[in-house]
Amino acid sequence: MKKSKPRVLRPEEASIDNRALTAAILQAAKRRGAEIFSGDGAKAIWREGKRCAGLVLQNEKVQANWTVIAAGCFSATIDGIAPYAPVRPAKGQMASLRTDDVKIERVLWSEKIYLVPRNDGRILAGATVEHAGFDKRVTAGGMEKILAAAIDIAPGLANARIEETWAGLRPASPDHLPILGPTDIDGLLIATGHFRSGILLTPITARLIREWITEQRVSVDWERFSPLRFSVRRE
Ligand SMILES: Cc1cc2nc3c(=O)[nH]c(=O)nc-3n(C[C@H](O)[C@H](O)[C@H](O)COP(=O)(O)OP(=O)(O)OC[C@H]3O[C@@H](n4cnc5c(N)ncnc54)[C@H](O)[C@@H]3O)c2cc1C
Repeated sequence: MKKSKPRVLRPEEASIDNRALTAAILQAAKRRGAEIFSGDGAKAIWREGKRCAGLVLQNEKVQANWTVIAAGCFSATIDGIAPYAPVRPAKGQMASLRTDDVKIERVLWSEKIYLVPRNDGRILAGATVEHAGFDKRVTAGGMEKILAAAIDIAPGLANARIEETWAGLRPASPDHLPILGPTDIDGLLIATGHFRSGILLTPITARLIREWITEQRVSVDWERFSPLRFSVRRE
């Protein structure tokens, strides 16, 4: 007899539009006085003895009492950061579908992919996990995997319109755990390595970073996420 696969209903599970979330966070930060230096990436941390005095950009330095490296999978490309955040990119491809024939009320998972309904009627299908360097191309093979698995979950999607396809790069740490908190350089903190859950972990990451900066301690057990776990502690 064919064994049926276990099914799990998670009625409380919700989803959020990551693009809208990012725009909202940017707007909120600007309202609170954040100054944005867009387009001018950080090249290195600015060391002054045992302290991090800020960041070195392409043509200038930015002074800061506290520096938080949160450059996703690019964090290790900033000079001085690799020992604390040896992250690498894990590419994920996705497709956005639209059809009147399929109604999905909650996130659906199969062993291969997930489908996420958006309020505007789109159904997102994703995602691949590929170790392909800093390559963000959408590929035929990636789309084949996603679309075949999507149609397997909801056969009506075979007639759906493909509205958009894209790929992103997740920050993957060697143990696939986030890398959070202070380093052994005064004033330097890391917040990366969130791999497949960086959106979900946005609020707790923000809270921990705020607590470290304002109180120099955190309210939860975080040692296993320490940026010092990859390197021998320096004197
Ligand atoms: C296809 C796909 C599906 C996903 N689905 C989910 C999901 O369902 N739920 C979930 O929780 N997470 C999901 N994730 C993972 C999530 O997107 C990541 O964990 C999250 O984006 C990591 O956030 P981050 O801010 O650390 O890095 P990023 O989002 O990569 O942001 C890093 C930022 O740093 C900037 N930057 C890079 N280099 C420099 C530099 N030198 N100087 C200054 N700035 C720099 C970049 O331009 C970028 O804006 C998914 C990811 C992908 C690719």
